[in-house]
Amino acid sequence: MTGPTAGVGRTALLVAAARAIESQLPDALARDPYAAAFVRAAPGTAHWPLHPDRIPDRVSDPLWGRLGGYFALRTRVLDDHLLAATRAGARQVVLLGAGLDSRALRLPWPSGRTVHELDTAGVLAFKHRVLERVGAVPRAGRRPLAIDLRGAWTTALLDSGFDPGEPTAWLAEGLLLYLPAAAEQGLIAAVDRLSAPGSTLAFETKDISAEPDRVLRGPLYTALRERLGLDLPALFAPGPRPDSAGALRARGWKVRVRTPYEFTALHGRGPLPEPDDALAANRWTFATAVRGTPGRPGAEDHRRGRGGRDVGDSPDDIPATG
Ligand code: SAM
Repeated sequence: MTGPTAGVGRTALLVAAARAIESQLPDALARDPYAAAFVRAAPGTAHWPLHPDRIPDRVSDPLWGRLGGYFALRTRVLDDHLLAATRAGARQVVLLGAGLDSRALRLPWPSGRTVHELDTAGVLAFKHRVLERVGAVPRAGRRPLAIDLRGAWTTALLDSGFDPGEPTAWLAEGLLLYLPAAAEQGLIAAVDRLSAPGSTLAFETKDISAEPDRVLRGPLYTALRERLGLDLPALFAPGPRPDSAGALRARGWKVRVRTPYEFTALHGRGPLPEPDDALAANRWTFATAVRGTPGRPGAEDHRRGRGGRDVGDSPDDIPATG
């Protein structure tokens, strides 16, 4: 596994660049004061725009316009979701494939929350260097954990202070697309095992087997390849994707699957459907652990009071922030 200079780690820089650009807009959906520093510190990104003024036609640009707008909307929706989950009682947040996500440093968490950031050693070392250089101060307990999510990672998480008896807000944003099907199934099973009632899991999926070749050769993926040297379809895990929403339902979770376009309508900003749409297969899933694992300490308390509530699983119940 590499840092953010090559391979899948570089996708974290792409998202950071989109957040940097969004942050400069007067009506930004989310502001990330650290995003630009990450991109500036990485090799081979000097030509990447970090300000909307540097994008000649932002509205029609498939990369920094449409895909950038998608990342901005995703950031805002998941910011709101995680804040709602922690305000509803989740004591800990686990960012699976955290990349250069700076939520631990930029969101107004309720006090006493812990944010676990799981990613590869290379990405986390780079992130640490940049955050140290800019003097960043976390707004929650921040616990980076270097692991490979394709293997066994739960023991390392437990050893780092994660408490399976407390409700957790889990997030897999921009991750599952890159994991082999078996690793995704293992991750969903692990999240279920470690989730006290009232825990939430939000994740993004994209079934590229549903995308025709002309989409994979279309303007968005071409721009990524030619302008950033990033061959996204080559990084996506091949083969049919597992039905993770179904797997969670079968384990007693309450699950809602949304398209990004539902949130475009909610916020009045973001991508819209288009012909040969490279975002048509993207789904955002919001799940809540209603039942939890029988016999887990604290489970009865959560079942009686704090657990089982839906959190941020519908455009209607996502509170406005910022
Ligand atoms: N969640 C972050 C965000 O949205 O800004 C980062 C998303 S980035 C597209 C994907 C991240 O997943 C990268 O940081 C990459 O290193 C991480 N990742 C991919 N496969 C991984 C694996 N097997 N183990 C740990 N991290 C992985």
